[in-house]
Amino acid sequence: MPLEFELIQQFFNNAQAQSDVVCGIGDDAAILSVACGDQLVVTADTLIRGVHFPNDTLAEDIGFKSLAVNLSDLAAMGATPRWFTLSLTLPEADTEWLAGFSSGLFDLAQKEGIALVGGDTTRGPLSITIQAMGTVSGGGGVRRSTAEVGDDLYVTGTLGDAALGLAGRLRKIMLESEDFLFCNQRLNRPRPRVATGLALQGYVHSMIDCSDGFVADLGHILSASHKGAEIYLHSLPLSDAVRRWVEQESGWQYPLYGGDDYELIFSAPVDHRTKIAAFVDALGVPISKVGTVIEQPGLQLYAENGDLVNIDQSGYTHF
Ligand code: ADP
Ligand code: MG
Repeated sequence: MPLEFELIQQFFNNAQAQSDVVCGIGDDAAILSVACGDQLVVTADTLIRGVHFPNDTLAEDIGFKSLAVNLSDLAAMGATPRWFTLSLTLPEADTEWLAGFSSGLFDLAQKEGIALVGGDTTRGPLSITIQAMGTVSGGGGVRRSTAEVGDDLYVTGTLGDAALGLAGRLRKIMLESEDFLFCNQRLNRPRPRVATGLALQGYVHSMIDCSDGFVADLGHILSASHKGAEIYLHSLPLSDAVRRWVEQESGWQYPLYGGDDYELIFSAPVDHRTKIAAFVDALGVPISKVGTVIEQPGLQLYAENGDLVNIDQSGYTHF
């Protein structure tokens, strides 16, 4: 792309002084300074137009979300975000789109203190790949494979908002305008739980971010840890919008199977209950206890009255 150099200078060379960036954008590769004893935590995610976001998504929202999904992975490891690279494939050099994209991207980058240190720019159908790097010290880093029998299971925030928003956006369902605005914001501007992930490090046994839906992502913890779980359906944290939908339709598909919420799911020993409850006030992030890790593999869902609930893939309950 002939304009590549100018485009990068104009939109992405937002060089903030970060002392751990020895050499940032402009050379063949970046040079980054990692403190002795720290470990590097690396993740990457690609977003493709029409696959990961609807075609009419605003450039600002695409910029924000491409970084958010990567920060959410760092959060789930309990890592401190440090640097990221951006590989952009663009159909054309559309400066208006690039201005919007970079403003959404840097909005979140500045909030979370992560520096853009390089990337690549090519021509083709719109796709965005971000690789984010963070650090953990002293052998930290929380895995998904280390849940223990008897652990409490928790979820941050609320479940199902983004999927409900997407269904509203694609006109599969009708939502009240207030609910639509809320869910659409959750879909387009997910705030990764970076501070929460960092705070929880050291108090939890296992953690994952909820990108594919609660059942799927909890399932990853359980299968990697060779454990099962009991979940109390009525303790799942729901926003007013999702609660209204669940009550109206008696359908749990959004909170159980809806993706894109970027909340954290984690397991922690019972001894840390008080500490975890204290994080709710300290961080201003809701954390709900939703179940327990058990020996027997699989997921058991319980209703409020203690009955075992069967829920099919579409999310409808069969008592
Ligand atoms: P090379 O030919 O060595 O790969 P490029 O021309 O692709 O170099 O990139 C020049 C510099 O600009 C490099 O430092 C690269 O990391 C940076 N860069 C390229 N594209 C982007 C982008 N989309 N965002 C941030 N930095 C970029
Ligand atoms: Mg290149």
